[in-house]
This record gives sequence, structure tokens and C-alpha cells, in this order.
Amino acid sequence: MAMYIVADECISCGDCQPECPTKSIIEGKIVFEIDASTCTECEGDFDSPKCVELCPIDNCILPKKAA
Ligand code: SF4
Ligand code: SF4
Repeated sequence: MAMYIVADECISCGDCQPECPTKSIIEGKIVFEIDASTCTECEGDFDSPKCVELCPIDNCILPKKAA
């Protein structure tokens, strides 16, 4: 269970980063990225993924589909 950032949508504003309870959001080489191994989708911390709430771009942060 993790979210991911759609690279084509992210404008690298950084708004999503500070409030991530698991510090899973990192500034990648091109745009921001979410570490799927630590992202909890905010379960236990917030009612819904905080990064999605903070991101100004619609459909920029989506649930990662199971591989
Ligand atoms: S869903 Fe929550 S835990 Fe996952 S990256 Fe976003 S803010 Fe962090
Ligand atoms: S808030 Fe959205 S647009 Fe801004 S860095 Fe995070 S994912 Fe990218």
C-alpha cells in the first residue's frame, strides 16, 4: 500500500514533502518521488493521504498499483 507521484504532472513545488508522517517523499533527480517501501498511505496518521491533500495538481499523486 503506497502512493506514487506521476512524473509528468509533478511541478516539484515541494508542498507535499514536509507533512509526510513517514518521511517517504524525497526530491528525486527530476521530480519528487515517494519511497513505496515506507509510504503507509498515511494509515494511522491521517484519514487520507496527506500528500494528495497538499498537492496543488489534480491526479499527480495516485495509489501505486500492485506489480
Ligand atoms: S501517503 Fe502519506 S505516508 Fe505516503 S507519501 Fe503521502 S504523506 Fe507520506
Ligand atoms: S505537491 Fe505535488 S506537484 Fe508539488 S512536489 Fe509534491 S507531488 Fe510534486
